[in-house]
Amino acid sequence: MRMPRHALVLGGGFAGTLAAIVLAQRSHSVTIVDRDRLSDNDAPRKGIPHGRHTHVLVSGGARALEELLPGITDRLYSLGAQRIGIPGRYMATAAGGGWFPRQDGKQFIIGCSRSLLEATIRERLLACQNITYVNSADVVGLTGDSVRITGARIRERATREERIIEADFVVDSTGRSSSASQWLVDLGLPAPQQEVVDPQIFYVTRRYRAPDGAHSMPAINIMADPARTDRVRGSGLLLPIEDGIWTVTLSGTVGGHPPADDAGFLDFAAELPYPTIAELLKLAEPLGSPFGFKADANRRLHFDKLPLPPGFVVMGDAACTFNPVYGHGLAVAARSAVALRAGLARGGVDASQDIQRAIAQASQDAWMMATSQDLRFPQTLGPRPEQRDGLRFRQRFQERLARAAMSRHPIAEAQMAVFTLSASPVTAFLRPSVLISALRGPDPNVQPLPDPPFTQQEREVLTRRS
Ligand SMILES: Cc1cc2nc3c(=O)[nH]c(=O)nc-3n(C[C@H](O)[C@H](O)[C@H](O)COP(=O)(O)OP(=O)(O)OC[C@H]3O[C@@H](n4cnc5c(N)ncnc54)[C@H](O)[C@@H]3O)c2cc1C
Repeated sequence: MRMPRHALVLGGGFAGTLAAIVLAQRSHSVTIVDRDRLSDNDAPRKGIPHGRHTHVLVSGGARALEELLPGITDRLYSLGAQRIGIPGRYMATAAGGGWFPRQDGKQFIIGCSRSLLEATIRERLLACQNITYVNSADVVGLTGDSVRITGARIRERATREERIIEADFVVDSTGRSSSASQWLVDLGLPAPQQEVVDPQIFYVTRRYRAPDGAHSMPAINIMADPARTDRVRGSGLLLPIEDGIWTVTLSGTVGGHPPADDAGFLDFAAELPYPTIAELLKLAEPLGSPFGFKADANRRLHFDKLPLPPGFVVMGDAACTFNPVYGHGLAVAARSAVALRAGLARGGVDASQDIQRAIAQASQDAWMMATSQDLRFPQTLGPRPEQRDGLRFRQRFQERLARAAMSRHPIAEAQMAVFTLSASPVTAFLRPSVLISALRGPDPNVQPLPDPPFTQQEREVLTRRS
């Protein structure tokens, strides 16, 4: 079995950093190239404009990260990241006609700024002696031919000079703007097929300092309801992160974009199905202005179905992006890095096609979840149910589960396991307790909660201040 002698990682974001750490354990040396200065990671970087927006790491991704970097979640908590159990004491969720009861469950999300997350995993990267950074350089193409990829061409930002970095294993992790398809075509290789499902979502985020006495308020998640046709899609998330800060993201689709100005942001929050986020924001101190973002479509490129030369792999957003509302991109990148590590251990450089297939597999559940949910909204662009096998059945099953989830805890637990990428839908939903609960439908003795299930102490935060 041949291990990489020199591995090259294109793009040093979340996926690229994890790929480099994995490769450093198997290769003689690793080089990471990024258009940014990767040392400037305590502030949002130009190369990841989405980094300023709310980022959660779902528990399936946190476990994958912990598997790759033992001790990393404790390190994150020690730096102020919040562990938020769901459906649980630390999150209040409203969806489809009411609020979920706040019961403790096995799943969680980690709330912290994207820069804290990146800086913390980069600490591990810096501990690897065989990794070299090439900062402030654009990757402009691959080198080699249709039989063998031999490296990449890069252009230094300061001098505009181009040079080649040779490598016998290349990972493209340049994110959503990756040009890997074109680079392959330039070498005489076919481009991958692309699937796109675009919910046409617009995002606006603003940070706030939580008011005194409110640091223990739960995260608030108000989800868009596809069953309601009387209003355009809108959702909101208030997430506690490090240093007593709340990051608040509002999202909406065509005809209902959240405004990126002070007053419009608050008005949009007030017009969500429940005004809870707006009520809390009136008590908090804004930190900077709201900033907007046209969020990504769900887009996947089937590199896994191409006959690629050995030693080339595409991972992270470069292979598959998701509607960020579901918060799955980081988790899929972490699971893909686990797949990279396992594939290298099994077959070295020559296993790259198997690795690419395993990376596609790592994104499959998240892809199915995001696209089938998004296609329930009329504004979404993409192949409709009649063109997609089994979609209608899945949507009906999801609707049935959603209706019963508020009053049947086994369903809520299963939904959280699937949502956090901790279990596949097949394992989580096709269990007797879940199927029986779904067949019985909503428990008539348990009504959806009309108001947020706050504790007395949490309610006092609102009344004391208003
Ligand atoms: C608004 C928004 C909110 C999101 N929220 C969540 C969330 O809550 N939870 C979650 O799990 N995911 C979320 N995501 C998705 C998550 O941000 C991505 O899945 C994640 O960033 C993917 O990491 P990556 O390393 O593949 O790409 P990136 O993080 O985009 O990194 C790509 C890197 O490549 C570099 N680069 C790009 N092109 C070149 C080039 N030609 N030459 C050199 N360097 C290059 C960039 O500088 C960057 O460092 C969100 C995304 C958006 C847009």
